[in-house]
Amino acid sequence: MAHNVAELKVKKKFTDPMGEQTFKRRLKKLGETKLFDESGKERNPKEYWPETLSATDDYLDYITGVVMSYPKRPHVSVEVELNFDRYAKGGFGTCDCLVLGGSELHIIDFKFGKGVPVSAENNPQMMLYALGALELYGALYDIHDIVLTIFQPRADGDTVKEWSISRNDLVDWGVFTVRPLAEKAFAGEGEFRGGDWCRFCRAKNTCRARADQYTALEDFGAPNSKTKTGKLPVPPLLSDAEVGGVLEKAIALEKWVADLKDYAITSCLAGKEIPGWKAVEGRKTRVWDDPDAAFADITTAGIEEAMLYERKPLTLAGIEKMLGKARFTEVAGAHVTVSSGKPALAPVSDKRDAITNKPSAEEDFK
Ligand code: SF4
Repeated sequence: MAHNVAELKVKKKFTDPMGEQTFKRRLKKLGETKLFDESGKERNPKEYWPETLSATDDYLDYITGVVMSYPKRPHVSVEVELNFDRYAKGGFGTCDCLVLGGSELHIIDFKFGKGVPVSAENNPQMMLYALGALELYGALYDIHDIVLTIFQPRADGDTVKEWSISRNDLVDWGVFTVRPLAEKAFAGEGEFRGGDWCRFCRAKNTCRARADQYTALEDFGAPNSKTKTGKLPVPPLLSDAEVGGVLEKAIALEKWVADLKDYAITSCLAGKEIPGWKAVEGRKTRVWDDPDAAFADITTAGIEEAMLYERKPLTLAGIEKMLGKARFTEVAGAHVTVSSGKPALAPVSDKRDAITNKPSAEEDFK
């Protein structure tokens, strides 16, 4: 829904001018999009509408800034299909927005998701789009510089992530990195390599290479060497290095198990047999068939209306979601205080600074 709203706004401003009535009609229709969450439960689009409108306004502002930064009015394309078949057979993708003028090409990707902050640096999806754009426009424009942008307003960290690469470096990557790997993969010869990226793969549930990673957890505890008696010298306590190693594997394992469960329940519901498992009905929930009629009956029975409602303020995050970040900061930013977060465990690659309770030397000697 957010993508379609973003597309409509950019099209209206840059590529397909339309009257206010048409725009409003289309926008209203998008606001009625049927939405389902990950568990398949239908969600009310109104829940996401204020945030959708404010995030897509910010996206349009960003694109306007990019367009204005060109000395002459650049070419703008929205939802353009880019073909990079020259580097990866059959490869193509749809780019959210492309701005092109003089020697500079700008590729912009709108990501409404907030679960996984995405970086623009060396981002293969964006680089492949840029290769596709060179195929499409390279003969018409003398492109030298390419800027890749991830616009991700709801994830933690920066909303706009930009990264630049020269045409020559990009084409070198396409020829010497992408093409040989794509040829191998197309011939069914490449190596499977499991990792964090498996969560986006269509084969993630039943891929053997992914499953094989987790036997590493069973192997854990295998000694480096044997004693004279042949018995394994397993120390009674795990070392800190071992705790770190097990956690790393266990967290990936958790995600894999969730994917397997997802696959198994979908299969059971489709009538397949997953030995040892079946689909059952979860906890029942009760809802009013007609809330207005139910409340009318209750008040008619003598229960005071005031007893049936509670007046609660929205949370800070809820009000920010409703107003959008910029408006929220303007009207209520001065009242926000930030308290320290509860300590949480994160991998060393996490961008946040490490915290500790241990006093520093400076504090000790104060
Ligand atoms: S699930 Fe398998 S095929 Fe998919 S990315 Fe992971 S290792 Fe590769």
